[in-house]
Amino acid sequence: MSNEPVSKIASQLSRLPGIGGKSAQRLAYHILNMPQEQARELATAIWDGRKNVRTCSICGDLTVSDPCPICSSPKRNARQICVVRDTRDVPALEQMRGAYSGLYHILHGTLSPMDGVGPNDIRVKELMERLVDVDEVILATNPDVEGEATASYLARLIKPLGVKVTRIAYGLPVGADLEYADGVTLQRAFEGRREV
Ligand code: ZN
Repeated sequence: MSNEPVSKIASQLSRLPGIGGKSAQRLAYHILNMPQEQARELATAIWDGRKNVRTCSICGDLTVSDPCPICSSPKRNARQICVVRDTRDVPALEQMRGAYSGLYHILHGTLSPMDGVGPNDIRVKELMERLVDVDEVILATNPDVEGEATASYLARLIKPLGVKVTRIAYGLPVGADLEYADGVTLQRAFEGRREV
């Protein structure tokens, strides 16, 4: 009976990715031991954030204002679109600090026939509709099986429109051992090779 608040919070937390039953319970106890004010701030931050955030109608990124700050910035090059799987990939690429000044397109997934995810389940149609006055589409999906399949599918679709399509090159991490690198990583490293 006295553990009901714990199990209630834990069952919510365990729905989050990467949080197992044990972690959820540990966090639930932690939250119930917090000062009330801190617990309220946590709950408010989650609710306010979720309530105020929507999906950018152009790129599909999470945003408070629609279009998002990147899509509406006059400083960005609207002739380049970088295609990624998740909204989480955008801050990762933005860390390149000015190395890329184009726009983004978030697919919200990758093709995965095994899981029943086809072109209509990710934002492919929305991408095709954006390809007016665009010079280059950069395919930056992950170098895994689904990411590669999605990139080749999009390349086949976009190239006939006369738009340049590029795929970012993935190299081996510094210190990596060729012997232990997987085939996809090696293939990408080879394809991305440059003259020395
Ligand atoms: Zn946007």
